Amino acid sequence: MAENFRFSTLLVHGGLEPGPGGATTVPIVQASSFAYDTAEGLEDVFRGRRMGQVYSRINNPTTESLERRLALLEGGVAAIATSSGMAAITTAIMTIVRAGDEILSSSSLFGGTFSLFRDTLSNFGITTRFVDPTDPEGFRNALNERTRLLFVETIGNPKLDVPDVPALARIAHDAGIPLLVDATVTTPYLATGAELGADIVIHSTSKYLNGTGNSIGGVIVDLGRFDWNSPLFPHFAPFHKKYRAFAFSARARKLVHKDLGACPAPMNSFLMTEGIQTLALRMERHCSSALTLARFLKNHPKVTWVKYPGLEDSPDYAVATRLYGGRYGGLVTFGTGDKGSAFRVINGLKLAKNLANIGDAKTLVIHPASTICCDYNAEEKELMGVSEDQIRVSVGIEDIEDIIEDFRQALE
Ligand SMILES: *Cc1c(COP(=O)(O)O)cnc(C)c1O
Repeated sequence: MAENFRFSTLLVHGGLEPGPGGATTVPIVQASSFAYDTAEGLEDVFRGRRMGQVYSRINNPTTESLERRLALLEGGVAAIATSSGMAAITTAIMTIVRAGDEILSSSSLFGGTFSLFRDTLSNFGITTRFVDPTDPEGFRNALNERTRLLFVETIGNPKLDVPDVPALARIAHDAGIPLLVDATVTTPYLATGAELGADIVIHSTSKYLNGTGNSIGGVIVDLGRFDWNSPLFPHFAPFHKKYRAFAFSARARKLVHKDLGACPAPMNSFLMTEGIQTLALRMERHCSSALTLARFLKNHPKVTWVKYPGLEDSPDYAVATRLYGGRYGGLVTFGTGDKGSAFRVINGLKLAKNLANIGDAKTLVIHPASTICCDYNAEEKELMGVSEDQIRVSVGIEDIEDIIEDFRQALE
């Protein structure tokens, strides 16, 4: 598929090959494994002399169609789809770090990522230091000889702070290490990995890319720009020698993804490929409705605070405007003073669903402190920007008048 198509055209056509009988949707190849006529043929695929499918844990035609589309959308050279966003983060990190290495991460993280870094990876000798993502010099100061990657979310979930990703990319590159970006909240519609200067972009495709909350998935996109031929990454040497700009994606797919086994089901890859077609239209609506709701909440007497990077008095407004061209995403957080009143608002909502997800066509809310972040102590909650009165809203694509009416009646 021509790479010079524009964004919305790529959303619909990117990576899609003609299907059997003229089908215009990607075929769901519900197969575990793929047969070859000759022993030589299968050997060639295993040795990487020829492209082809072997076994759906490693690759699958339905999943590859999604991967091609996502690589094109981000301006990358390759993509690996996974069974979840957490699988994408785990696979990407494990491709890079070894025992004794350190991760330098934003402290404003999705709860699962925070616990992966703090609890799971620390058991394997991989330490993470957490720093405020809106202070790039803090990253520079926290680097040491064991740091092997920088990790940041484009818009922190649920803190909704907006780091200067290109500035962090420069700091990472000055230190000879890659910048990994979790762009789940912004999606390539607000900015592509190439525009942000990231080396690896990760998404939970469960969220905005799917857009309808019907399946869990993730993706790792390799921008192909980082030079892995470095004494900091001796384990990349054979991959760099053979695959050059594809060194990261080759090591990820042929080793870590294959070994961890977090592959998506072909059916889910199909659902992601279908959902992603409307990303631009949905994001336009998510962003405009989130701004309208944020302004409504800000003017409501029962609301004590509102956080949305698109509010002009937000500390993140300037950076967000520069990086994302006047779009600020679909997440809004606000508080009403205490946990009791937050629960009353949530219980009073009729349209918005109270559940642990974001990026659905439907408006969703959650009380993070008692749910997705309930395992963290007060200090950790503060680090992640979670307060006891906080409600997170993932603004859907319903009529904005109905969304506002729902919050108005729940607040009253
Ligand atoms: C949801 C989410 C993840 C994890 O993705 P899953 O698909 O739920 O595993 C990672 N990062 C961010 C920012 C998320 O919102």
